[in-house]
Amino acid sequence: MPTQAALYDISPPISEALAVYPGDTPPTREIICRIDRGDPVNLSALHATVHLGAHADAPRHYSQDAPGMDACDLDRYLGRCQVVRVAAHPRQLLTPADVPAPITAPRVLLATGTYPDPTRFTEDYAGLTPELIDHLQAAGVILVGVDTPSVDAFNTEGLPAHHACLRTDIHILEGLMLSDVPPGEYELIALPLRLVDCDGSPVRAVLRTLPTRP
Ligand SMILES: [Zn+2]
Repeated sequence: MPTQAALYDISPPISEALAVYPGDTPPTREIICRIDRGDPVNLSALHATVHLGAHADAPRHYSQDAPGMDACDLDRYLGRCQVVRVAAHPRQLLTPADVPAPITAPRVLLATGTYPDPTRFTEDYAGLTPELIDHLQAAGVILVGVDTPSVDAFNTEGLPAHHACLRTDIHILEGLMLSDVPPGEYELIALPLRLVDCDGSPVRAVLRTLPTRP
């Protein structure tokens, strides 16, 4: 009998409690219709940054002429993925030496543990160096995901990790929750919305365990 696949939900809950990057637009929900007030339906409008919780950065986010969210290939966000736990300290800039595990999948999620609470924005999360992005590209990686608000450390001038991703054609997921996920290989499912020309999109990111072979 095949073992039932398990799902890890790696998306933080979206509510008005969710923290966003300083200066960005936090989520607010406007309730337009309410059944308990006599309306035939409940109906809400959501106002928020597209970089909300677990989200994809479209290359348009960091380069004016780069593809918007709707132009990004969905294959990036769907398929074989490796979760790698790194022993990061606050504000650390991660290099290839900090990721000693062999890269075995085309999508890599780095669990740094440096941004533990999605309802409280903290500035001391770890970032990625361009050298690490180059290392991932050399290993065949097409997507990198982080458990922090950004692949660049807070207030990093010039966003070097984002631009390294542009140069190496690696797409980015940010704001993931990876603390409960054991390292190893999974299937990633994290499809962005088809937002035309947009600089990013929220995703519902999940990891599905791979079928065990008999
Ligand atoms: Zn970003």
